[in-house]
Amino acid sequence: MEKLQAVRGMHDTLPGEASAWNLLEQTLQSVLQSYCYREIRFPILEKTELFSRSIGAGTDIVNKEMYTFQDRNGEFLTLRPEGTAGCVRVLLQHGLLHSGPQRIWYQGPMFRHERPQKGRLRQFHQVGAEAFGIDSADIDAEIIMLCARIWHVLGITDVRLELNSLGSYAARRKYRNLLVEYLSENREQLDEDSVKRLETNPLRILDSKNPAMRAVIGAAPSLLDSIDEESAEHFAVLRELLDANAVSYEINPRLVRGLDYYNRTVFEWITDRLGAQGTICAGGRYDDLVAQLGGRATPGVGFAMGLERILDLMQSGTAEPGSDTPRVYQVLVGDAAMKNGIKLAEQLRDKLPGLRLLMHCGGGSFKSQFKKADKSRADYALILGDEEVAKNTVQIKPLRADTGQYEISQDELADELARLVPFPVNIDMFSGSGSG
Ligand code: ATP
Ligand code: MG
Repeated sequence: MEKLQAVRGMHDTLPGEASAWNLLEQTLQSVLQSYCYREIRFPILEKTELFSRSIGAGTDIVNKEMYTFQDRNGEFLTLRPEGTAGCVRVLLQHGLLHSGPQRIWYQGPMFRHERPQKGRLRQFHQVGAEAFGIDSADIDAEIIMLCARIWHVLGITDVRLELNSLGSYAARRKYRNLLVEYLSENREQLDEDSVKRLETNPLRILDSKNPAMRAVIGAAPSLLDSIDEESAEHFAVLRELLDANAVSYEINPRLVRGLDYYNRTVFEWITDRLGAQGTICAGGRYDDLVAQLGGRATPGVGFAMGLERILDLMQSGTAEPGSDTPRVYQVLVGDAAMKNGIKLAEQLRDKLPGLRLLMHCGGGSFKSQFKKADKSRADYALILGDEEVAKNTVQIKPLRADTGQYEISQDELADELARLVPFPVNIDMFSGSGSG
């Protein structure tokens, strides 16, 4: 008898592998909660119509990636390929959009019949967040900054933000016509896929990964030139907010996203370390989706991140080595420093629950303690000697950056560390794997 195997592109999580998942999921949950997003859960199976009416008939997902079948009653059902449509269905069905803005998140498996490869599975997992009922750019900024904080907490550094605005739906339609006109004139330069998309989903041609298409795409009319004034203003406010909060981004006028329901803001977080499957998170604004699914017009903006890709990235060595690595190593030279240091460490643990602070014990010279601090892989050394004790100060020395050492008052230390390590993940949450 042939050995039974999992469905192609669908993975098992084995003993020992679940702890990385737990760590990631718990971290995401904590950050989302800190922004007051509330979790909802909904079935992985929905009526097919939900997805064909929202994601769009011309998209890859609806055209060729959905797992759709008829049940015993002949009803067409689909394993959810993404979460936003289901999320809107939940809010509409339970009348949750009548009581003002809603900040929601969800997680779980999604299903797409794609060609399996690294970072591209047929069952994969997303965490998504959606904010409904707010049309101003402050909420777009919040959604993006929430992502930035997640990368920071996970220790992911080499990821960049690409940003674009699609304008209003009307502007998008107008641009679509311009683009079709241009691409039709240059039809001989299009690959087979793009010729097909010219009819079904021309904007998606801009997103083509085929190098042979680069020239014709490069010379295409720019989307940003045809967006409406209000959307341009919305986009300007968003950029200003990101600038003011030190979130860097690149404007990519060819970023269009694969789903039909987006307008105005679209964005992707991309890393170069995962090859072609480098987008770890994608999202944008969808002001018409709720109405399209039968609700009262309600703006929305959100994102979904792919957990397998994030785990791949974390395991590729760029991310924080793990929850048992100290963030801060306390260097204490001399008896007075030792006594002061123990007290200070306890105060910091009170104020910053979960901050991983390793206190040097057993004395020794500055030199030998620094060696140990370095080896611990901590990000910062806190240095206390007789002089600091006398002045009620402490020296902070970044161990993983070239920025110099500096001195601050012990009274300000907790605030300073909260800034340096803005979200000290509570290690207790991660102890033990698979216990849920
Ligand atoms: P791609 O261009 O890589 O196909 P997408 O535009 O189809 O991505 P979205 O529908 O926006 O992706 O989904 C959001 C995120 O979910 C992606 O950025 C990615 O991290 C993850 N994701 C999407 N499809 C898959 C898949 N088949 N396997 C693993 N992760 C996926
Ligand atoms: Mg895709």
